[in-house]
Amino acid sequence: MNIFEQYESEVRGYCRDFPAVFSSAKGAWMTDTEGERYLDFFAGAGVLNYGHNPEHMKQPLVRYLLGDGITHTLDMYSEAKEQFIRRFQEIILKPRGLDYKLQFPGPTGTNAVESALKLARKVTGRQTVVNFTNAFHGMTLGALAVTGNSHKRAGAGVPLTNTAAVPFEGYLGDETDSLSYLEAMLEDDGSGISAPAAVIVETVQAEGGVNVATNEWLQRLREVTRKHGILLIVDDIQVGCGRTGAFFSFEDAGIVPDIVTLSKSLSGYGLPMALVLMRPELDVWEPGEHNGTFRGHCPAFVTASAALDYWLNSELEDSVRLKAEHVQSSLQEMIESQGVKAVVRGRGLIWGVEFEDHELAAKVSAACFERGLIIETAGIDGHVLKLLPSLTIELQDLQHGLNVISESLSVVLAAETAAAA
Ligand SMILES: *Cc1c(COP(=O)(O)O)cnc(C)c1O
Repeated sequence: MNIFEQYESEVRGYCRDFPAVFSSAKGAWMTDTEGERYLDFFAGAGVLNYGHNPEHMKQPLVRYLLGDGITHTLDMYSEAKEQFIRRFQEIILKPRGLDYKLQFPGPTGTNAVESALKLARKVTGRQTVVNFTNAFHGMTLGALAVTGNSHKRAGAGVPLTNTAAVPFEGYLGDETDSLSYLEAMLEDDGSGISAPAAVIVETVQAEGGVNVATNEWLQRLREVTRKHGILLIVDDIQVGCGRTGAFFSFEDAGIVPDIVTLSKSLSGYGLPMALVLMRPELDVWEPGEHNGTFRGHCPAFVTASAALDYWLNSELEDSVRLKAEHVQSSLQEMIESQGVKAVVRGRGLIWGVEFEDHELAAKVSAACFERGLIIETAGIDGHVLKLLPSLTIELQDLQHGLNVISESLSVVLAAETAAAA
């Protein structure tokens, strides 16, 4: 029994699928204490969009630390925060014509979601928040109440209330239009749903199984919410920061949410940081009404500012869109040539392979790990193999990972055939 199994709580999760002890990492590669190297197709669930320990962020971070740059300020003003806010406005918001105020909540995604939900309820004076089937928004009670997964919900131990789940696009099959359902519920006084404060949505449901909303669906959702005076919250914690190509995942749809949550890859370096964007007129917070000790983690502001250099031109965005085409066609080719019943879907550099046989994804993930590739599963049964490489991954590494997936799938399928015979 290792020290983790001996002393770390049973709640530990990912280490069960990837039981190596990691010691260093660079770019798309991780190394364990035995000297084994692993190609990372997981990227910290979307924290490491720019890869592990990017030089470009490490250098300013190290300079900041060696120069005794202030590390902690609660939410007092700091030079590091000032620089981040200025650059975020100039590089991200202004060129996109977006007018948002910035709130720094505690440094986790779930804290950003809690802030967004509180704010929407405060602004509207309403309690209900509409969420979608298979949504994932975090583990604290408010965020958990808008999360679909029943196993995670049960962990709350108390009722999770003041929410109403409606079907995400495609949840009821291609024939049923889930937004018409939502609209009917909103318009009919007999529907049983009281006027909601907000609708919270992921443009691509990542944990929920890589379910991709179309631009048309998102545009209609924006229309429906606007028409009914409901705030639209886009949770871009996992698929923002370039994961789908553009900085924000909603840019391709041309919509402007009322509130946006960001975290995961925001600091660019894996340092904890979260952000809530709100239309200025929604900023009805009283001073300190939502606070938290770690809202001023200056090293994260330093790397987050440096990460914005990737957004000074369209190089990264263009490369993600090119890689996307390659990943999609490779995966499609793989399932066709191996004759396995599966659906491939994704956007940018988040892709899912949903196998008809729900056992397959976990087996393929395990076979990949044996071959030095770290790749997760998603979806309620873990039935979707989820590709989440760093955006900056070299083409040959991307290809290597795709080859390993294909080889692993064929090994798993061969073992299934042998077992059946
Ligand atoms: C990861 C995630 C969260 C929660 O972030 P934490 O930092 O784990 O609290 C919320 N929403 C989405 C879409 C996420 O992917």
